[in-house]
Amino acid sequence: MRTPRGERLHIVFTGICNAGKSSLVNAIAGRTLSIVADHPGTTTDPVEKSMEFSALGPVVLVDTAGLDDASVLGSLRTARTNDVLQKADIIIFVTPGNRAPLHCEQTILQKLQQREKPIIVAVTFSEAPSNKEKVTWLEEYKKLAASQDTQNKHRAVRGMYFVSNTENTGIESLKRGIASLADTIEKEITPLEGLVNEGDSIMLVTPIDSAAPKGRLILPETEVLRDALDRNCTVITVQPAQLGAAYANLIQKPKLVVTDSQAFSYTASVLPLHQALTSFSILFARKKGELAWFRDGIAMLDRLNKLNTINLLAVEACTHNRTHEDIATVKIPAMLHAKTGVPVSVTAIRSLSDKPPNEHFDIAVICGSCMVTRTLFKAQIAALHEAGIPVVNFGLTLAWGSGLIPRAIELFPEYSILRESSYDFINTAQLV
Ligand code: SF4
Repeated sequence: MRTPRGERLHIVFTGICNAGKSSLVNAIAGRTLSIVADHPGTTTDPVEKSMEFSALGPVVLVDTAGLDDASVLGSLRTARTNDVLQKADIIIFVTPGNRAPLHCEQTILQKLQQREKPIIVAVTFSEAPSNKEKVTWLEEYKKLAASQDTQNKHRAVRGMYFVSNTENTGIESLKRGIASLADTIEKEITPLEGLVNEGDSIMLVTPIDSAAPKGRLILPETEVLRDALDRNCTVITVQPAQLGAAYANLIQKPKLVVTDSQAFSYTASVLPLHQALTSFSILFARKKGELAWFRDGIAMLDRLNKLNTINLLAVEACTHNRTHEDIATVKIPAMLHAKTGVPVSVTAIRSLSDKPPNEHFDIAVICGSCMVTRTLFKAQIAALHEAGIPVVNFGLTLAWGSGLIPRAIELFPEYSILRESSYDFINTAQLV
């Protein structure tokens, strides 16, 4: 199985037009990915290439449009580049060493530093005589690169490399510099980390309904299955209708049952209370970030019944065909309405840059985000919090709807604060 995009570190190359970004990406990837030409604005949408990158493991190299493109199309391209920078784990700022620094280059580099991500400067055209002003400007960043200021370790430029794309020099040093950042990048845990041991058995409950993709499982299910097999666990996979009989027939009960969020209530009603149970969505919220990020969202769920209308922002990180059973636009709004008696107005988006400006939202529900990196997931949650919108994920929302949040997170004692925030909603009838 190829490593999914959401598991790969993203290395984003950015800078002004004609700085040599595309040639540099091609040189690092060892093949032509982007069209290279002398006139500005050759790269339009970001171009991505997956590769193995020594100590960093599987990565995606992302070539972007110049951030100084002044054309009408350019502003759209710049917006796309800014989107891509949100998901960057490492930023390579590319600047031509043979040209004086542009004012916009200085602004861009300062703005990049505010993103608190490791930055490496690649100085291109090293085969040509250096521009003195550029050298003076870069000296300041060289000092920062050498500084041991651990407090600002993500803000500082982490290295500077002089490269020639035409003579293919300096590329290997730059690659070693990028690889040396391996230890500074926050790693994702695997879905079952800390929950099962070698030889345990686990049970997966995976409904195959009209919303399921034809002929395959969805990514969270596949990843949990693979993680369990990597840990030499025995895996029993059933649809909800077969759960009761399959569970009753087991002599040795599973260490853990993981269910699709939509079947949480049913699964909980079938299994005994002492059976450890959680959902794919909750495992992914823990894998991609912190369950505690959803504390405000859970508290907001508890207050929705006080509103006249619930303005709901539904965020799904990838495209799929919407059906009459769609979770974001149908099932969750229907559940919220049934639970609170308040009408629900839904706006569904794929990315926060699609959010209608200035529109008020009472709460955002976000999918398991299995297709995006931990870095992008974190950036999205931070952007929602910054906009004053409490956020909760699909799995916790559905568990809340059934009064089952305590059960869904009892495996994770570090998140007991979430349990307390919705304790009033426990419907004991559904726990027996
Ligand atoms: S909608 Fe979200 S959870 Fe579902 S497959 Fe796409 S990224 Fe994964």
